[in-house]
Amino acid sequence: MDHRKARKIFWICWLLASVVMVLGAILPDEKMQKAVITIGIIIFILGGVIAICFMRCPYCRGSLNLRGFSPDYCPYCGKKI
Ligand SMILES: [Zn+2]
Repeated sequence: MDHRKARKIFWICWLLASVVMVLGAILPDEKMQKAVITIGIIIFILGGVIAICFMRCPYCRGSLNLRGFSPDYCPYCGKKI
């Protein structure tokens, strides 16, 4: 998995997690609410783990910034990524 794909998955997880948590918050049943919000948090953490594991420079393994867009050049070794 390259860093651009990892970033996309990270964003999708983020979006999905917020939608799930908002939906969970408006559920009338408290037990369901907690369960759905927990699922949202798990999706969020999963996205974070994917970002930390794969959002890296393929040359020096330096971690890229999680926010914004992928840089064209690695901030650590200067190679085109
Ligand atoms: Zn690098």
